[in-house]
Amino acid sequence: MNITLFKNRIFNEILSITSIMAIFFYLDVKLGILINASEFILHLAPNLNGYLITIVGSMWAGLLVYSYFRRKQTLSAVLAKKHVKAELDGQKLIDLNTGLPNRNGFERIVNDTSLLLDNPYWIVLGIEISNAKSLKNAHGIDVGRAVEREFAKNLTGFSTESEFIALDEGSVFYMICTSDAEDEVDFRADQIVDKMSEIAENGIETDGKLHNIRLSFAAVKSNSIDRRNVRPEMDGLAKRLGFALRQRASSKMLVCFDDTMEIAMQRQLLIEATLSEAIKSKQIIPNFQPIIDINSSQVVGFEVLARWHHPVEGDISPEEFVPVAEEQGLLGTMTVNLMKLSCDIAQHWPEHITMAINISPTDLRNEDMVLALIDIMNDYGIDPNRLEIEITEHAFVADADSVNHAVSLLKEQGISISIDDFGTGYSSLHQLRTIPFDKIKIDQSFIKDLSTNLDSQAIVRSVIALGQSLGLAVIAEGIEVGINFDVLKQMGCTQGQGYLFAKPMSGADVLTLFEMEDGRLSSAVLAA
Ligand code: C2E
Ligand code: CA
Ligand code: CA
Repeated sequence: MNITLFKNRIFNEILSITSIMAIFFYLDVKLGILINASEFILHLAPNLNGYLITIVGSMWAGLLVYSYFRRKQTLSAVLAKKHVKAELDGQKLIDLNTGLPNRNGFERIVNDTSLLLDNPYWIVLGIEISNAKSLKNAHGIDVGRAVEREFAKNLTGFSTESEFIALDEGSVFYMICTSDAEDEVDFRADQIVDKMSEIAENGIETDGKLHNIRLSFAAVKSNSIDRRNVRPEMDGLAKRLGFALRQRASSKMLVCFDDTMEIAMQRQLLIEATLSEAIKSKQIIPNFQPIIDINSSQVVGFEVLARWHHPVEGDISPEEFVPVAEEQGLLGTMTVNLMKLSCDIAQHWPEHITMAINISPTDLRNEDMVLALIDIMNDYGIDPNRLEIEITEHAFVADADSVNHAVSLLKEQGISISIDDFGTGYSSLHQLRTIPFDKIKIDQSFIKDLSTNLDSQAIVRSVIALGQSLGLAVIAEGIEVGINFDVLKQMGCTQGQGYLFAKPMSGADVLTLFEMEDGRLSSAVLAA
């Protein structure tokens, strides 16, 4: 305990004891509640002073009442723990690997005991071994389990008698700390984070081998839940901890769930609840962003970008709903719908205009899905040479074999393949050597500051040179200002895309543009 906490604690305790003593003293003087006891003591020791007996009696009564309340909180945790332990044993509520309560066991602790209700302040920590999956993939499931076990031992060893620990799926540990002082729970949480981080830094040893672990920490605190209306329950806590754990953008060691996250989480829940219907009822539609030939400034194609205008939330970005569709197993239906809607529009475009569509790794893993896309292309009479599939670089890193297979199927049909977000993965060069790509899309992060950042210039220049020597087209995305367009042109980049030319537009707007320009779009028209 640090000095300030210690001083606060002492001050609070003295104050509480004195207050209770004063109450007893008052009650005795006014009502004589200790009168019988003092008469009895005077009878035994007639030399004692009556007032002294009252003061000492009040002190003892005060101390007894105070310590009863002081211990009650700790006692309730200890009793709850004993009760739960007895309940959990033999009821499939224990994680067999670590012996800790599992998610259901934790649910029992939170929902069926009044632990969180009894204590004025509590913090529930979520501690995730974020590289657990890659550890299991790299070293096998047994090593993964041994690391989990060892970490569980460390966490339990560091916990106090009144703290609860459980282990959920996905190597997420929960820990409940309670107190009657807010700064104490905060301090304790920091202590746990520091200690566990130190353990992670030193590595976990199993079978004589040292394994590095990475930890993420999140917390839900008693004051982040509206306690007047909401009883803290497991599902809500786990959801909030999971949400906070996924906020990787935060550089803070411990991510505390707060009001802003509550709003974001409610939005996410709304997306999850309404996405299925939106996909089925074709509320998700394609928009099209022009791709420009940098030398001639002519439009050579369009990239299909999914758009969802939510009736309550307004426009929702594909970056938000594509992962949800993926999680819910709805992505395939969404992709097929989008492909149909896009081909329906693209069949009316001039024949030299290409259409690029983004396909997620999940879709590519499913051969039927790839064949379905080819069928749709044929049904709408779209020439395969006009179709490009954009695959993000990360896909190749995660699942090279199935992506390779899908790429072969598509290439056999004459469909082109682009590697999207190039430069953001970490095995780019290897992929370029092994997979027959047609185009490299340089990620927009390198283009945004191109004219001023020498590092970006060096990277873009070498990617263009790489494309040239491999005979691949190179496209730069995210061109927002003329100066970057000029730099790219000078560097010999072949194609470009960005707000400088046009934002993604509806299918109807594309057709209007073609009508206006008689099938030949100039960048001047698009930028207007
Ligand atoms: P992406 O494939 O890298 O698409 C480019 C994103 O950059 C698009 O965002 C586009 O609107 C935006 N963009 C284009 N030019 C500029 C510019 O000059 N400045 C800025 N700041 N942004 C620009 P959008 O439409 O929000 O899509 C985001 C991501 O969502 C896409 O990144 C893609 O990965 C994914 N996505 C979009 N549609 C689909 C889809 O139909 N299927 C799948 N699987 N993913 C999709
Ligand atoms: Ca793309
Ligand atoms: Ca991209």
